[in-house]
Amino acid sequence: MTSIICPHCQGYSTFSVVYVDGNRRVVDQGREVRDGASRCNNPDCMRVIGGLIGQNQRDVIEWWPKQVGGKDFPDVPEHIASTADEAHKCLSIGAHRGAIALARAVVEATAKANDITKGMLDKKIDELAKKGVISEAMKEAAHEIRFAGNEVAHADLAEDPITAEDADEVLQLMDAILTRVYQEPAQVERVRTRRQERRGE
Ligand SMILES: [Zn+2]
Repeated sequence: MTSIICPHCQGYSTFSVVYVDGNRRVVDQGREVRDGASRCNNPDCMRVIGGLIGQNQRDVIEWWPKQVGGKDFPDVPEHIASTADEAHKCLSIGAHRGAIALARAVVEATAKANDITKGMLDKKIDELAKKGVISEAMKEAAHEIRFAGNEVAHADLAEDPITAEDADEVLQLMDAILTRVYQEPAQVERVRTRRQERRGE
């Protein structure tokens, strides 16, 4: 068994070989391997990676993917967090337009989660700020995500390709919004609860 950092759960975990191809092949330095797959033994993960399996059919010699590139948003409602996570996964594999389209969807879903359902996205963003869910600065960030999303959906893409840097910056804005709206209030609440427990309140 091989222990590596799991690209899915980020934990240092053992991997059990679950599949080995029938054909042997030789890689560098004359090493004989087989194509195969192995599963993370972290019970909360159990996800599979592909790779090269050693002759003993137990060792993982090389594996893919090295990095999955998602992101956890523990205090964000599940459906929004999974969309944001997927945006980061898109970015990590170079799917820049997909990343931006999903970032736009995250803003829309955040409005909906705050009972703002009427009108186009620009109106919803303004309403988020008016209700005090996001600040004026975050409102501008949300509008930039909206503009980028519109560009991806409508512009002549061949003329002005979206770069990794563009997509990365849009996702940083998305992360900032989720941090302000969900992560920070939850964190304050945790700190407050612990303080009150310490004081026996
Ligand atoms: Zn894992």
